[in-house]
Amino acid sequence: MPDGFNLQREAERGVESVGVMAVQREAPEEFEVAIASAIAAPEAFGASFDELPAGDELELGAGLEGDPAIAFRRTLGMFATGVTILTTRVGENVHGMTANAFMSVSLRPPLVLVSIDRRARMNDLLHEGTRLGVNVLEAGQAALSDHFAGRPGAEDVEPRFELVHDTPLVEGALAHLATRIVRSYWGGDHSLFLGQVVYARYGEGEPLLFHGGRYERLVRDQRVFSALPHELLEPILAHGVERRYEDGAAIMRRGEPGSELLLVVEGEVRVERPGRSLMLGPGELVGEIEVLDPVGKRIADVTAVGPVRCVVVTREQLVAALEADPRAAVGLIEVLASRFRETA
Ligand code: FAD
Repeated sequence: MPDGFNLQREAERGVESVGVMAVQREAPEEFEVAIASAIAAPEAFGASFDELPAGDELELGAGLEGDPAIAFRRTLGMFATGVTILTTRVGENVHGMTANAFMSVSLRPPLVLVSIDRRARMNDLLHEGTRLGVNVLEAGQAALSDHFAGRPGAEDVEPRFELVHDTPLVEGALAHLATRIVRSYWGGDHSLFLGQVVYARYGEGEPLLFHGGRYERLVRDQRVFSALPHELLEPILAHGVERRYEDGAAIMRRGEPGSELLLVVEGEVRVERPGRSLMLGPGELVGEIEVLDPVGKRIADVTAVGPVRCVVVTREQLVAALEADPRAAVGLIEVLASRFRETA
């Protein structure tokens, strides 16, 4: 297995497996259905999943031309989702894959469903009784998503796992579910796996989103979209890591090395240079000059005024984005020019 994460090796390195009991609560009467009969329902009602009625061809709406499969895929891409890494244990190793075809199914019993391409390695690893982890990614984990989709980028990703209920879970994800596969169904060129959830937890943060074939993130303040050109904003939002600051926190100090660029997403920051002070808010960049200079030192003190939420990109990420799209480079030049005008 490429990049295989070995549980035995991790145990030797002192990384302990964690076992946590699921909390059992009384179910209201209307939910008192035996799990076995609930999950056997399709078969019990005589539904067949092996054949579709003939003659129901896919019709494309006006304006959709070309390959129907591509048009269908793009139509489905209009449904915005989160992104998960699915994980399962293979002997002493872990196998993971990225999936957004995930849905909640039932609260009592707690059931979730994933849809997996029949050509995927993961498809061959899952069967009734297998443990499957569902790891909901946080906004800054697009590189992890790409890694587990088999398309690693320039960014080095080193996933780490912990074992909960014999289920490997990705460290640092926004939410975790440990499930046991209780049924699988035919789903055309995909297989549908129904998992009974035995453990669930979530943390603080924002989710990574997927829409129209691209990563997105939640941004609540509309000023973020109007302040920067789209071509520059999009790679920053897609690849940046989320960072939060409390009121009064020192975000940058003069003289420090400056290899990161910050985009303010919520809140305001005070930028202080000798003889000059200004406030920057949602949609504005901080550290945009030093990040372009490999030996650049911070030229201002930057402090959070109230709680601040930022998206941070490294010099390498920014340069990669500028190289990938000249319109992003022009966008950054425009920002630098307007700052120069302000200070001139
Ligand atoms: P592989 O392609 O062999 O592995 C996937 C990658 O994960 C490889 O790069 C491998 O090196 C790495 N990897 C695996 N285990 C480990 C480990 N233990 N440590 C480190 N690295 C490891 N496909 C679907 O079927 N359903 C979906 O819902 C779905 N949604 C997607 C959503 C997004 C946003 C993206 C980008 C892709 C999605 N895909 C989906 C495609 C799917 O992620 C890829 O086809 C994936 O490569 C299939 O994985 P696989 O099981 O065949 O394993």
